[in-house]
Parts: sequence; structure tokens; C-alpha cells
Amino acid sequence: MTSTILKLENISKYYGNKKALTNIEWEAEEGKFITVLGPSGCGKSTMLSIIAGLERPDTGKIIFEGIDITHTPAYSRAINTVFQDYALFTHLNVYENIAFSLKIKKLSASQIKKRVSALLETVSLSGYEKRDVRTLSGGEQQRVAIARALANEPKLLLLDEPLSALDLKLRKEMQRELKALQKATKITFVYVTHDQNEALSLSDDIIVINKGSILQKAPPDEIYAKPVNSFAAQFIGDGNILNSVVMDNGRAKVFGTAIINCETSGFKKDETAYALIRPENVYFGSAKENSLTAKVISSIFKGEYYEITADLNGERIKGRSEKAFEAGQSAKFEFKDEIYHLMRS
Ligand code: ADP
Repeated sequence: MTSTILKLENISKYYGNKKALTNIEWEAEEGKFITVLGPSGCGKSTMLSIIAGLERPDTGKIIFEGIDITHTPAYSRAINTVFQDYALFTHLNVYENIAFSLKIKKLSASQIKKRVSALLETVSLSGYEKRDVRTLSGGEQQRVAIARALANEPKLLLLDEPLSALDLKLRKEMQRELKALQKATKITFVYVTHDQNEALSLSDDIIVINKGSILQKAPPDEIYAKPVNSFAAQFIGDGNILNSVVMDNGRAKVFGTAIINCETSGFKKDETAYALIRPENVYFGSAKENSLTAKVISSIFKGEYYEITADLNGERIKGRSEKAFEAGQSAKFEFKDEIYHLMRS
């Protein structure tokens, strides 16, 4: 059985007269990996700081394990944070960094030793005990920061863009490790990022925020397939957002003439909408008689396919092709037989 571990109720936050968060409401189920995704400046860190107790909200409540902790100081919450810049104690070695909170808790020396060894093994740093943290690579420093944050067994771990200082290869590796770590420890993770791929590959649930408000909270596959509006669609994955007109039940027109199958419930006949068509569903090089023709803008080799961007009457369309096209060339394309998603805004 799952239970709610964290609940944000009507949280708003101002800095001076600037509103950073507006009526934020969501809850996290225990043991889940929740990602807060949004562009820079949308309020992600502010939200995390409020959950951690480092900032106070102007309105609303934070409920943690059924108890209102809105006014509980940060150090009394069973919540730890991993920051982007690691925030390690540079005057302490790896062992001392990880042991820090355990010493405060007054655990015995042998208990601390056992726990630090186990944590170092968890983050693949066994044998690093005596190392000066300033001599570690970025990835190693972040592993120490994660081990330190896990040391006193928090119920909730907040991670604020923890991998953004790492290069792409290491970031991918650390993503896999973090996901495995979260599964093994069953600690609830609230992970902040502006990286959509990171959000898609790590999360049980994604919360998309923009300008201090939540746009959507759903599992990654649902957000990818049915974004609530074109902002969320553009933010998650690569997509063509095409002007369309609803025809009748289950059909709409794009590019004036092409008919696509869509989920039209809630839409009226002749209503204008945006249709989301992912590039993997657009095939360039079509030989069908009724296919559309666009003017190629670019043709980029992606290994398994060419990514084609083209223009048709001023609207951009991105798709895939088995062969290369020249810029300026006319190219026929067709849509895969799918049921496409419509959005009002
Ligand atoms: P994100 O983490 O999504 O990049 P932040 O939560 O850091 O966004 O910031 C949200 C908004 O609040 C931004 O416009 C930012 O400039 C502003 N802000 C954040 N912290 C402060 C602060 N201490 N004082 C004033 N404005 C702040």
C-alpha cells in the first residue's frame, strides 16, 4: 500500500513584491522519484527551499507524514538536500564529511564506522575514507555529498540540479546510479532539473512548472503523450505543434488539407487547436499519392536516420527520413497512422 509522505497545500512565495510561487499544490507518495521540471527562474529552487525549511512560504502549508511542518526548523525535519555545488566541508576528509551528522546524533565510533563504510559502498567509493575532498573529481564529490545526505536516513531527499556541473557522460552514469540508489533505499526523492531527458528517464512522476505555477503533474509517459498545453509539449521531448481545425469526432485537419486521427473529446467541431505530432511519427520520403510536400530547411544525419526540418506554408515540420535531402529541395512527407493529441493553448 502506498501512502502520502509530503503534501504542499496552497503554497505561495513572494520576494519583495515579486511572486516566485503561486498556489502550489501537490503531493508525493512515499518511495517515489518525483521530478520538478521547468525553465530557469520558474521557482524550482524556491519550492525545494520551502520543503527543506530554508525558506518560509507566505501562504500555505507543508504537511510531512501527516504533520504540519510549515514552521518546523530545517534541522528538525527528516529531510536532507543535495545541492548542485556539493557544499562539502572542505576542511574535512571524505569519512568526516559523511560521519558529520552521525557524530551530532552521538552514535558510537563503531556504529559510525560501520555506517560510513556501508554508505561509501552504496555510492561506489569504498576505500576513499581518508581522501581530501578537494582532490576528488566532480562526480566523486557529488557521490560524497549524496552519501552524506543519506547518512542519517532521511525520509525525504531533495536534490537541486545535482548533476548539472558534470559532463554529459558522467551525468548519464550518475543518473543510472541515482535511480538505482533510490530504488534500493526506497527513500522518496524530489529532484529538481531543467533537463527534460533527465526528468523523463528518472521519474515516477514529473511536475512541470512555469512562472511559479504548476502546469501538470503526471508520469513521464503521460506527460510525453498528453501534455496539457504547448508549453509543456515543447518542454518535454521534441514535437511539432501544428495549427489544426477539429473536423468531427476523432479527426482534425493540419496544413489546411491533411486529415489526422485525434482524441477530440472536449473539443467542438470547427474549433481551432494545436496538434502534437512527434518527429518520430513524420516520415519524409513518402511515396503516397496524397502526401504533403514541404521545402527542406535542414537534413541532419543522426545515425539511424536523417532528421529533416522543412517548411510548408510558413509552418515548420520536423520528421525522419532514411535518406538525406538538400536544403531547398521539395520533400514529400506523411504522418504515421496514430491517434494524435490536441491542445487548446
Ligand atoms: P529556479 O530554481 O527555477 O531557477 P528560483 O526558485 O531560484 O528558480 O527563482 C524563482 C524566482 O524568484 C526568480 O525570478 C528569482 O530571481 C527569484 N528569487 C529567487 N530567490 C530570490 C531571493 N532570495 N530574493 C529575490 N528574488 C529571488
